[in-house]
Amino acid sequence: MSDTHDLTHAGFDTLAVHGAREDLASLGLHVPSIDLSSTSPLPDVESGGDSYENLATGGTLEEGHSAVYQRLWNPTVARMEEAVASLEGTEQAVSFGSGMAALSAVLLACVQEGKPNIVAVRPLYGGTDHVLATGMLGTKVTWATADEVGTSITDETGLIIVESPGNPTLELVDIADVVRQAGDVPVMVDNTFATPVLQRPLEFGATLVMHSATKYLGGHGDVLAGLIATNAEWAAKIRGVRALTGGILHPLSAYLIHRGLQTLPIRVRAQQAGAQVVAEWLTTQEGVEKVYYPGVEGDDQAGLLGRQMSGPGAIVAFDMGSYEEAANIANHTKLITHAVSLGGVDSLIQHPASLTHRPVAPGARPVPGVLRLSVGLEDPKDLIADLERAMQA
Ligand SMILES: *Cc1c(COP(=O)(O)O)cnc(C)c1O
Repeated sequence: MSDTHDLTHAGFDTLAVHGAREDLASLGLHVPSIDLSSTSPLPDVESGGDSYENLATGGTLEEGHSAVYQRLWNPTVARMEEAVASLEGTEQAVSFGSGMAALSAVLLACVQEGKPNIVAVRPLYGGTDHVLATGMLGTKVTWATADEVGTSITDETGLIIVESPGNPTLELVDIADVVRQAGDVPVMVDNTFATPVLQRPLEFGATLVMHSATKYLGGHGDVLAGLIATNAEWAAKIRGVRALTGGILHPLSAYLIHRGLQTLPIRVRAQQAGAQVVAEWLTTQEGVEKVYYPGVEGDDQAGLLGRQMSGPGAIVAFDMGSYEEAANIANHTKLITHAVSLGGVDSLIQHPASLTHRPVAPGARPVPGVLRLSVGLEDPKDLIADLERAMQA
């Protein structure tokens, strides 16, 4: 990419707006074009074959070479990946058709390397927990608390997986401490809830950063995508898996994620401010037994706020004490949509034990009174009024 301006010393918000767009003006463009080509002309048989070999084994497109085929390379997708890598501070990023496809590629890369054992710290997103528990991709999971990571590692451990904040109850995990225990074993942090606005796991020694870009990075509830931000070596491994297993991202989806990044910092901060107001209100409500939110007193036990994560984020979970009370709220909110997913501009509420975390083993599943609320950009007083009405219904 030929730079027309230099973002080397740009602040985070500037990078969010301009990242991987430096060459646009020189192309006579204001926004990236969407390249929908499923195939690309090959200049001649020999260089076409070379490009195929390079891309199918995880390489990146070389200057002047053909992209060959959309399952191997797409410029719109590659552009967005470059933007995400710059926000996470990693060498590269690799995108997928969903967060689960991204996770699957990493797990398959571990299996391929002969390191199929995965040490995973609960709580995790229900789908992550499920795919690890089934072992359907050839991995074997060892569940560990954050303190047990070091003693859970064997010669065949290929990866440590942690989520911070964890889904759905916002536990914060000390990433630097997990990395220290992990030694040579790479640590992957699911950064979906925090986003690079609030936390950049690479700074604490993580090797891989995972995103369900479906959530905050996209931010508008209209695109499914997954990302792994990592070093060049790991990126090549998982691009190789992606080329062969086909979990690619559509260029239109990549365009939407890249556009979403431009407002990511401002959305996350505004949603976080709303979440703080809603969380504090919840702590004053008699029917609410517990509020899970790192921004309320007593919830950030490890003192990681400000140190690892610059703010508490915009997801709030709360325990209504029973399935009936929780279900009653989810069934009666109006402004807040009863739906899975999170991180968009509009607020969503869901009951993890029945939905996202249904496949999780009973002992590790969230208690039946817990609801997870993703706070959007609405006026928090309207969200509070909606919750209050639903609580009384
Ligand atoms: C949604 C989610 C996933 C899965 O991502 P998809 O895009 O739905 O496949 C993984 N991790 C976390 C924390 C999530 O919230």
